[in-house]
Amino acid sequence: MERVYNFSPGPSALPLAVLEKAQKELVCYENSGMSVMEMSHRSKEYLAIITEAEKSIRELMSIPDNYKVLFLQGGASTQFAMVPLNLYVNKKADFINTGMWAKKAISEAKKFGTVNVVASSEDKTFSYIPEIDESKFSPDADFFHITFNNTIYGTRFTTLPNTGNVPLVTDLSSAILSEVIDVSKFGLIYAGAQKNIGPAGVTIVIIREDLIGHAMDITPTMLNYKTHAEDGSMYNTPPTYSIYIAKLVFDWLKEQGGVVGMQKINEEKAALVYDFLDNSSMFSGTVVKKDRSMMNIPFVTGNEELDAKFIKEAKAGGLVNLGGHRSVGGMRASIYNPMPIEGVKALVEFMKKFETENK
Ligand SMILES: *Cc1c(COP(=O)(O)O)cnc(C)c1O
Repeated sequence: MERVYNFSPGPSALPLAVLEKAQKELVCYENSGMSVMEMSHRSKEYLAIITEAEKSIRELMSIPDNYKVLFLQGGASTQFAMVPLNLYVNKKADFINTGMWAKKAISEAKKFGTVNVVASSEDKTFSYIPEIDESKFSPDADFFHITFNNTIYGTRFTTLPNTGNVPLVTDLSSAILSEVIDVSKFGLIYAGAQKNIGPAGVTIVIIREDLIGHAMDITPTMLNYKTHAEDGSMYNTPPTYSIYIAKLVFDWLKEQGGVVGMQKINEEKAALVYDFLDNSSMFSGTVVKKDRSMMNIPFVTGNEELDAKFIKEAKAGGLVNLGGHRSVGGMRASIYNPMPIEGVKALVEFMKKFETENK
């Protein structure tokens, strides 16, 4: 069977070149005589892999020296609890509520302290990024949390709140490595891997060193950033194979011109879809223009039956996983880094054809 264009929101498509490299090395990695999956995480070969992976992501994101990069497990969802457990000193945090992931983060933080929701876009199904009134910020908050790119609704922060001395924390799961991010603006960045980094199983945390070491007394050892920072993400067995694939993805990204090069391609890809949506008489985007995501593009025809027909026919044409999230319906095209521009062009061509045939 031929490979399809996979518009899945996550786990999502990986670069074909990465899969082929992994396939070649699957049974026997270099001169080790075994698969990476079978190796001790403390072996010389594996230490070279994880060291190289960290070096690459530092280079790709220009991560300053006073930040640690941790390779953890438990997905972005575990970070919803780990962030407050480690950062709560006054037991207070500010959040912007931009959707389901933000809400989940808020509900975990509430288990350990007080949450102040500074702004929300829930009134319009999270179809925009709310205006922020700085007078509502808590000056004594331990952190200020935003969900940078909202995977389900297709919104994205284009300007960051000015939080002064309060560390800005972001869930970057669906936008990491897709555009240039100034890491120094953040106290902590976390991201599950299965969108722009690699296969599910590894979670990347980028944390400013001064934020490590203040965890609440109740914090379990495995949920303390200090544990992992001190042991180079080797306190226990890390998700070895996922990290290995992430390393291959980082190598591939460098070949695309790094994050700067990738951002250009992503801007071009997103513009192809949005330009079509803005000129279509059948399809329309659901997000306020200025807040549109480059990674997740939700759209509708305005007719549920027609949406269902579109999704079904697109699938038959090799364009798969275009259904919107169950909470919002319609369609969503997730076009992460590995989605080639040819896939986006094929989608737009298909939409044009569908529009003509179903006038
Ligand atoms: C996918 C996603 C999550 C959930 O990630 P898990 O790794 O499954 O816990 C959280 N936040 C955002 C923004 C996401 O896109």
